[in-house]
Amino acid sequence: MNTTVVTGDQVLTQLIPRITQCMEGLNFTPKLATLMVGDNPSIRSYFRSIKKVAQKYGIEVIELTWDVTDTETVQHTIEQLNSDIDIGGILIGEPLPKGIDRTALVETISPTKDVDCMHPYNLGLLMAGRPRVLPSTVGSVWEILQFIGVPLTGKRAVIIGRSLVVGKPLAMLLLQKGVDATVTVCHSKTEQLTDITREADILIVAAGKPHLIGKEHVKRGTIVIDVGINVVAGKLVGDVKFDEVCQLASYITPVPGGVGKVTTHYLMYNLVKSYEHRR
Ligand code: NAD
Repeated sequence: MNTTVVTGDQVLTQLIPRITQCMEGLNFTPKLATLMVGDNPSIRSYFRSIKKVAQKYGIEVIELTWDVTDTETVQHTIEQLNSDIDIGGILIGEPLPKGIDRTALVETISPTKDVDCMHPYNLGLLMAGRPRVLPSTVGSVWEILQFIGVPLTGKRAVIIGRSLVVGKPLAMLLLQKGVDATVTVCHSKTEQLTDITREADILIVAAGKPHLIGKEHVKRGTIVIDVGINVVAGKLVGDVKFDEVCQLASYITPVPGGVGKVTTHYLMYNLVKSYEHRR
């Protein structure tokens, strides 16, 4: 099989100029507020990479952290950030510690500052076919599909994972009029997963299960996008057995260096675009 490995760096050659162009239209420094409740090493590491990428664009990151706190304290800060005209985006690090009410926090964020499409209003717009912002991981997968450039109309897209941050919103996007894929969403209770995935023209895996997908799940010529990020024996691995699936896929993304690489940049894209929604 003639397989093309699509790296995040390749995809970024198309996304970075668009972000830079949006930045040029702003005559001030865009600001993103990151909120971490409790101390979580994976959130810390994600926020570190966000800060690094932000710096490249000249975007300022305001880091807010709480050791132990209650929902109301964080809500109060979010309200202040909502009314601060300098702040373009608010990002809550997940998972939140037990006892913190995620719904209350997410719904306190002004939808215009919701740069990761967590708020039900923004998810609703996506569902209604009028997305204003995409969750950054979904945006990243979209950029990868655009980069590959294969028409999606009528194609069978199978998504593994039904989370609110990846699987469900991605399904809504691919179902949209104009995109027109035929979408199947699988999850941990799905029976005969292999039979379903073998029908996929596009297989997007976001299960968070290392090496879940092997060659038996994939037909020849499938586009395989691996969203999974797992740490196994100190190494980052995806949900797909890259070496064996690579022999069957027409296009495949690696982990690391695939979806994750684009996600942080897509968040910056959402941030700079968010100022447009408030003009
Ligand atoms: P989640 O745990 O919220 O959801 C996982 C989904 O996978 C669930 O819907 C579950 O039903 C399904 N699932 C689990 N095991 C399965 C199985 N054996 N068969 C079929 N379905 C199964 O996770 P999430 O937040 O959606 O993230 C998914 C993965 O994507 C994780 O590895 C996460 O680290 C990664 N992720 C990557 C990026 C990125 O930018 N690359 C961003 C967000 C999440």
